[in-house]
Amino acid sequence: MKLKFLGGCNEVGRSAMLVDGKIIIDYGLRPSDPPEIPLGSGTIVPKSVIVSHAHLDHSGMVPSLMAGGMDMAPDVYMTAVTSDLTQLMGRDTIKVGKDQGFVFFGEEDIRKMDEHTHTVAYGERISLDGSANYELELCNAGHIPGSSAVYLRKESEDISLLYTGDIKMDATRLMKSASPDEFPASDILLIESTYYDREHRNRKELEREFIDSIKETLDSGGNAIVPCFAVGRTQEIVMMLHSYGLTPYVDGMGLSVFSLFRNHPSFLKDAKALNAAFSDAQFVNSKRRKKAISEPSVIVTTAGMLSGGPVLYYLKKIHKDPRSKVLLTGYQIEGTNGRRLVEEGCVETNGEVVKVNAGVEQYDFSAHAGDSELKELVSRFCRNGTEVVFMVHGEHTEEFAAWGRDNFGYNAIAPKNGEEFVIE
Ligand SMILES: [Zn+2]
Repeated sequence: MKLKFLGGCNEVGRSAMLVDGKIIIDYGLRPSDPPEIPLGSGTIVPKSVIVSHAHLDHSGMVPSLMAGGMDMAPDVYMTAVTSDLTQLMGRDTIKVGKDQGFVFFGEEDIRKMDEHTHTVAYGERISLDGSANYELELCNAGHIPGSSAVYLRKESEDISLLYTGDIKMDATRLMKSASPDEFPASDILLIESTYYDREHRNRKELEREFIDSIKETLDSGGNAIVPCFAVGRTQEIVMMLHSYGLTPYVDGMGLSVFSLFRNHPSFLKDAKALNAAFSDAQFVNSKRRKKAISEPSVIVTTAGMLSGGPVLYYLKKIHKDPRSKVLLTGYQIEGTNGRRLVEEGCVETNGEVVKVNAGVEQYDFSAHAGDSELKELVSRFCRNGTEVVFMVHGEHTEEFAAWGRDNFGYNAIAPKNGEEFVIE
């Protein structure tokens, strides 16, 4: 089995891998300005594409693989909710591209992707391309609705891989946790490394601090701006606020994503609780933003890393107000506006850099496994016969691979973008 890494190595963003020159697993877009795309984009003509989940850094460039005639387009394999989300996100990327001056694909490619998609249920074994040589299974990865770990077996060489995608081993309000003990054993493991060397804090305690900080902001007359990813984090945070009796304004794409989740209740831990939280929230569009900010309020809005979207409007309004706060709710990738806010105390809005005098706090409501869970997953796979482990999707993959070699002496590798490996 030949693996070529096209992105997402020693970095978070633009995850992409090519198997045997014809199967793509994930094809992402790093949401920096300008966005970064996988190596060799435009030159690869795969037969099959497998998508682990709908976050842009894993799925954002999949529509670009549909170029060429209708018969040339590859078959795409993903869960039903990932398919719906990937189309929604693709349309948003086209819109953002019009504003920022980039074009990676068009509406026609999204339609083609839809026509060529085979939706796959968790635990179902299917053959890729109707040929018996490659078998595929997707398993719940517990990260966002529809997220999957990808198991791929090549019959002719009797070799298999398991790619974790982004994975979470604890349940959240939105998601059931992944159950790695139910994953098929494999010869090769590809594991995400986002939180290598970092543990998550106790979630309940963290929630309480977050809620107390918001209440304090409201009591002092300020606005609490809560930037969230549209997919997963917005819904999790709205559910959390609802359970503490807080009614947020919700702005940006998180609302469309909620409507889409509602059509796929089996991918949610508690569809009723999600519906109840959203039926209490107040929705904002560009006309109602002024009202939302004119009174003490909590505003849940995109984009989670401040790379665009309505959050920039709110930041411009509150950046001078020391009573207000920006409460970041997730990982801020290097090079994003969110990382700049954390490290330098300023952000760029419409080409203008502004210093933020409002409070800035960061809460780790992560949907990724923590350090000990990642290490336990590697140990479990190696106990079950895995012989090669690739550490991907993180800023410390080299250290993670070194940890693997030190502790187990097996083949643990932090690949570089562009590197190719043949595993026998
Ligand atoms: Zn993700």
